[in-house]
Amino acid sequence: MLDKTIKDWQSAAAKLEIEGRAFIDGRYQDALSGETRATLSPGDGRKLADVANCGTEDADRAVAIAQKAFQSGAWSAMAPADRKMVLVRWAELIEDHADEIALLECLDVGKPIADTTGVDVPSAVRTIRWSGEAIDKVYDQIAPTPANCLALVQRLPLGVVAAIVPWNFPLSTTAWKLAPSLATGNSVILKPASNTPLSALRIAALASEAGLPDGVLQVLPGPGGSLGRHLSLHDDIDGLTFTGSTEVGKQLMQYSGESNLKRTFLELGGKSPNIVFADANLEKAAAFAAVAVFYNGGQTCTAGTRLIVEENIREQFIEMVVEQSRNWLPGDPLDPATAMGPMIDAAQMKTVADYVEIGRQEGASLMAGGVQAMADSGGCYYEPTIFDGVNNNMRIAREEIFGPVMSVIGFKDAEEAIAIANDSIYGLAGAVWSNNINTAHQVAAAVRVGTMGINNYFGGDMTVPFGGFKQSGNGRDKSIHAFDDYTELKTTWIEFE
Ligand code: NAP
Repeated sequence: MLDKTIKDWQSAAAKLEIEGRAFIDGRYQDALSGETRATLSPGDGRKLADVANCGTEDADRAVAIAQKAFQSGAWSAMAPADRKMVLVRWAELIEDHADEIALLECLDVGKPIADTTGVDVPSAVRTIRWSGEAIDKVYDQIAPTPANCLALVQRLPLGVVAAIVPWNFPLSTTAWKLAPSLATGNSVILKPASNTPLSALRIAALASEAGLPDGVLQVLPGPGGSLGRHLSLHDDIDGLTFTGSTEVGKQLMQYSGESNLKRTFLELGGKSPNIVFADANLEKAAAFAAVAVFYNGGQTCTAGTRLIVEENIREQFIEMVVEQSRNWLPGDPLDPATAMGPMIDAAQMKTVADYVEIGRQEGASLMAGGVQAMADSGGCYYEPTIFDGVNNNMRIAREEIFGPVMSVIGFKDAEEAIAIANDSIYGLAGAVWSNNINTAHQVAAAVRVGTMGINNYFGGDMTVPFGGFKQSGNGRDKSIHAFDDYTELKTTWIEFE
């Protein structure tokens, strides 16, 4: 918890026992090939664990086990009230091990310990508990038929679901996928990102301890290009849920078409607009403009990377945001005072540095950052970076950088702000800041994104759906709506004599 010091966390990290084997059929097992891959800490580059490097033969085995578990009905036919008890118990067990799991996530992802203890673990607990508590409160339907008929409309689980998740919010996205897919009675095979498998491996054993039958949840670490592809093409997998890049999401749609048309739901990238009008609370808007981009080092699908500011306050507002950016200088993720940790790896840091160079060459003005930090730490730290004088045709305004880089674009009126916001292949999130309710609401309504904030950024909780318009995806995580991605509607039409 936050009353711990950096020394407390360092000493806990030194004692941490890390499980790197796959979780198959209710127990930890090596990959059939015996192969492993080292997972490194982005904070200092040290090896954390050797992790099972599962291949297609492990996938085939896990799929057969998952199908058998599904068909046994041990979970899929269990009363929703009983599934609820298991999920709620699972959430409690994660809560009981909160510090350990927060530490694992901090070391594996490089996320600040203040975030993993304050956000990631509580959010996973809330997601699992909420979905468990909801599942025995959703009713199926009887259709409005003629009197001599009765038509039932039921939600049934898909069967076996593959869930493939990214490295930027490993625990949260894992919970967003597992909670609704398990609550609705599916068997699930989770493939974590190669960079960040540890928290998913840990919570899988806690699910078993909570009473989840063997084979219902399996976690297979391994490469996306082989293991992930094989799962996505598998004819015995009925549903595919994915969070990751738009590029890979497009491939998964193709894999589904090339195989058994498995139901495929995608949560993809973004280039989100954060629109600030002159009549907004500028102090608050400036603080949140920094949060919107620098939280998680900008490695956030919903990051508000396009700061779209009314021209008459642009200069003044940028100064305020540059001032705020100083609160986000990178630091050791084990230090409770750190707000921003390292990039996930050297490749991601190079991508960020390359985009900064592209921004310079495109003629944007660098107002802050643009340099690596803490180079002698062994980690991949980069300073919060702000470009002014950006226009929406520049690559730094169009492409997802996935790092702490903000592009500031000016606008003259609401119509122009909306046009800039919507001029993107993405449609994941955004926000508008104004104290005029008409302006705020009209702009929020016109921006084509899945989640829009008015006078906040990153607003929302488990009660609301989350997902993208356009090339930001098609599925919805969180809330009751997430159950739609993991169920088929079945009609039973009965006629009376
Ligand atoms: P990524 O490269 O697309 O990888 C995501 C997952 O897909 C990883 O587990 C990866 O495995 C796997 N994968 C890669 N190639 C595959 C293939 N051909 N077939 C099947 N699986 C494959 O994305 P990332 O770099 O990890 O994450 C960053 C991206 O995720 C960003 O674009 C971000 O916007 C997006 N994101 C979206 C949301 C949302 O809710 N909309 C949330 C978070 C992140 P390996 O790790 O082995 O490569």
